[in-house]
Amino acid sequence: MISVFTRIVRGEIPAFKLYEDDLTLSFLDINPAARGHALVIAKPELPGLLDLPPELVSAVALTTQRVARAIVEALKPDGFNVIQNNGAAAGQVVFHYHVHIIPRWEGDRLVKLWRSGTMSMDDLRAVADEILAHI
Ligand code: 5GP
Repeated sequence: MISVFTRIVRGEIPAFKLYEDDLTLSFLDINPAARGHALVIAKPELPGLLDLPPELVSAVALTTQRVARAIVEALKPDGFNVIQNNGAAAGQVVFHYHVHIIPRWEGDRLVKLWRSGTMSMDDLRAVADEILAHI
């Protein structure tokens, strides 16, 4: 089954496009969290970050910076979030790789993605060691 984003790439579904090149496409999110909430997708239909070859990781990052700069210049937010969900547990709904750019204004009602926790130095070292074994 083809993704809704592939259908946008093919022009089968309308979208407010912001930028396009051979590897990436950016357009407004249809259900925006804020005015100017944009998506940047990799054109090939790959589900998540770990599925992307290096050239697509780079291409999406460059398009994200380009579109974020345009959003900042046009809308003058106080800041912006770049968020990318991988897997249903992380909130991913469309399994076609994409990055969210969400403009933020002081006092807006959006919530932070996490609450800061605490961890002992021993536990921090242990988790670092687990990850380091795979770097
Ligand atoms: P996810 O939760 O997968 O990271 O985010 C998927 C995003 O895609 C959602 O914010 C949703 O509003 C957006 N979206 C889903 N379908 C469409 C569509 O047909 N057009 C556009 N422009 N955005 C869509």
